[in-house]
Amino acid sequence: MPVHPNDLIVLRPEGLYCPAGDFHIDPWRPVAHAVITHGHGDHARVGMGEYHCTTRCLPILRWRLGEQRYHAHEYGQVFELGRARVSLHSAGHVLGSAQVRVEVDGEVWVASGDYKRQHDPTCAPFEVVPCDTFITEATFGLPVYRWPDTREVAREISQWRGACAAQGEAAVLYCYALGKAQRVLAELIPFEDQPALLHGAVAAGVEVYRQAGIAMLDTRLVADEEKGADFAGQLVIAPPSAAGSPWLRRFKRAQQGFASGWMRLRGNRRRRNYDRGFVVSDHADWPDLFRTVRDTGARRVIATHGNTDAIIRALQEQGIAAEAFRTDYGGEE
Ligand SMILES: [Zn+2]
Ligand SMILES: [Zn+2]
Repeated sequence: MPVHPNDLIVLRPEGLYCPAGDFHIDPWRPVAHAVITHGHGDHARVGMGEYHCTTRCLPILRWRLGEQRYHAHEYGQVFELGRARVSLHSAGHVLGSAQVRVEVDGEVWVASGDYKRQHDPTCAPFEVVPCDTFITEATFGLPVYRWPDTREVAREISQWRGACAAQGEAAVLYCYALGKAQRVLAELIPFEDQPALLHGAVAAGVEVYRQAGIAMLDTRLVADEEKGADFAGQLVIAPPSAAGSPWLRRFKRAQQGFASGWMRLRGNRRRRNYDRGFVVSDHADWPDLFRTVRDTGARRVIATHGNTDAIIRALQEQGIAAEAFRTDYGGEE
C-alpha cells in the first residue's frame, strides 16, 4: 500500500497502530497499550501491558483473558491517549463490541473491529460514526454473502428441532461460544418453550450474558443430565470444536447443524458433513459493507480480514480510495 506519513492508524507487525496516541488496536502480538474492540480470540489476546475496552466488554475480557490491567469506557466517552482523542462506539457485533474513533488535529479515523447492521437482541445496534477514513472488516466481502432475517432462521431452527423430536433424535447445533450462541438463544424465545441444553464451553458465555441482563431461552447443562439420558427432541448448543469429538457419543441419535455466515454456501455444509446449515452471521453482509461505507461519509477505506479484493475493487469503481491492511484477524471467530 502507498505510504501516507500523516496516517492516524498504520499497520505494524504487532497490529494496527496509532502513532499519535502510541497505542494498538486489537494487536496480535504483545504491546504496551491496547484498545480492544471485542472479546473474540483473534481480537483480544493475552500479553498486553494494558487494555482499553467498553464497560460491557469488560466481563467478557475477564472471562476470556483473566485478570489484566483494564480500563473500561462507556460508549461515546472520549479519553485521551497521547495526542489522540479516542472513543468507543457500538459495533453491533457481540455484547460490548466497539468501533474505535480516533481524532487527531480535527482528522477522524474509525476502525470498525467486527460489525453488523442486522438486528441483534443481545447487543446495542451499530452506530454510524462519520469519519475521514474508515477501516472496515470484510470477513464476508463477496457478493454471494447476503443474510436472511435472523428471526426466520430461528423459526427454522425450532422446526428442525421438532423434526428431530419426531425421529427420536437430538438436534445438536454448533454456534461460536461468544455471541452467536447467545444471539440464537435470544432469537429462539418466541419459538421454543423448552430449555436448550448447553456444552460447558458455551455455558460460560451464556452466564456472562445473563449477568449483563440479556434475555435468552432457559438453559441447562448437558453435563448435569443423568447418565444414559435420552436427548431425543432436545436442542443442544455446542461450540464448533465439539464436532467429531468424543463428547458427542452421549447423544445416541443426533442430527448436527451449524449456525454461521459460512453456511450461505452449500458446499461448506457438505464438506463438513453437517445435516443442516443455518445462515446466521454477526458480520456485515456484502450490501451492508457498502451501506456502512456510504453512511460514514469516508473518502478513504481500508479493508481488513482477508476477503478484501472484491470490496476494494467495487469501492474504487465508486470513486472511493480503497486499500487493504493484511491483518491476522480470523474468519468468523
Ligand atoms: Zn468478532
Ligand atoms: Zn474479526
